[in-house]
Amino acid sequence: MYETLNHGTWIEKKVREAEKKIQPVLKEVEKNVDLKQWQVLNAYREMKVSELHLQSSTGYGYDDLGRETFEKVFAQIVGAEQALVRPNIISGTHAISACLYGVLRPGDELVYLTGRPYDTLHQVIGSSRDGSGSLADYGVSYREIPLTKENAIDWLAFEKAANSRTRMVAIQRSRGYADRPSFTIREIRQMIRRVREISPQSVIFVDNCYGEFVEQEEPTAAGADLIAGSLIKNPGGGMAKSGGYIAGKSELVEKASARLVAPGIGVEGGATFGHMHDYYQGLFMAPHVVGEALKGAIFTAAFLEETGFKTTPAWNEKRTDIIQQVYLGKPELLIAFCRGIQSASPIDAHILPVPSPMPGYEDEVIMAAGTFVQGASIELSADGPLRPPYIAYIQGGLTYSHVKIGLAQAMDFMIETGHF
Ligand SMILES: *Cc1c(COP(=O)(O)O)cnc(C)c1O
Repeated sequence: MYETLNHGTWIEKKVREAEKKIQPVLKEVEKNVDLKQWQVLNAYREMKVSELHLQSSTGYGYDDLGRETFEKVFAQIVGAEQALVRPNIISGTHAISACLYGVLRPGDELVYLTGRPYDTLHQVIGSSRDGSGSLADYGVSYREIPLTKENAIDWLAFEKAANSRTRMVAIQRSRGYADRPSFTIREIRQMIRRVREISPQSVIFVDNCYGEFVEQEEPTAAGADLIAGSLIKNPGGGMAKSGGYIAGKSELVEKASARLVAPGIGVEGGATFGHMHDYYQGLFMAPHVVGEALKGAIFTAAFLEETGFKTTPAWNEKRTDIIQQVYLGKPELLIAFCRGIQSASPIDAHILPVPSPMPGYEDEVIMAAGTFVQGASIELSADGPLRPPYIAYIQGGLTYSHVKIGLAQAMDFMIETGHF
């Protein structure tokens, strides 16, 4: 394989060095995968999942035993009272929106405790009654508590901001595409305890995207009232073709379902269009697939550090999501990196990614995603905005080997630019 690269000999040496270094960390990942796999298997056994549950439903989808059982399995795995896992939730943003609109009412206030939320949520939150259908348009006000310089929660600012209208406090677990660390379950548990003291009437919501199954517990098990995420990220195990989930306290999951579907129908309806087989198999495989992505992220951090780049998290740092951030420093390197990843993709390897404007972003963005499921970031993908310090965000990888190949190819492309 390395012989097909222009700089294969040097790259192979660096790959070997990185792999040797990370062995103990990979062992830790495998231990967590074993435990998670056991938890997932137990939920399937306890709910007596059988072949009939893998079948599809049509029309209204009432009494869909496969769907109902799957939601019980999912709820048990994430430590929640109830879960809503549906193919008609089209994305993570949709799942999060259903939670926000389901719980918040005119006059209520939403507070984001972890600073600026993920890009796609800005228009959901909105800023004025402009007819867009945003939360602001419905009279839900919003406050954001920027992180401190040390990337910690600004508790003083939260104490000042919290008031009797603070109906929901939101926590974003993963960095998403922000230049800040992700919050571990341990940190989220502490945040929840403190929010309860300061604002006991608030519903605590966690955007759990990219975090599922990286640690032993999910935020619901750590005390969160409601969580949401996407099935084409971690919990779909690379098999789900579409979908999202909402989990937490029954009363709140039902409120979200009333918004997602209609009041009075809520959780009861919704055909599954043949997705259940993928959902059951994908959730079963998710611990392993998340483990492969994590090993890939750890390798990426070590390999790029070995070749002189700053990475965060570092290869030996504790992780709570599958995102790897790398400071490439030059636009030429960011572009070459993404082109390298694309050229090592199973789908669209022949496509050349170019930086282009994206809705919601101020700078041009370059993206590499040669995935089986469009936009699935549990599959190896890389992207970054064309602005200093030219950060590449790398996530996913259905197999650890694929991530290594992708990184070797990306490095070859970067060296070729002459800017390395
Ligand atoms: C991916 C992501 C979302 C939104 O998910 P989509 O499925 O792309 O709509 C929200 N929050 C975070 C932190 C994410 O990583």
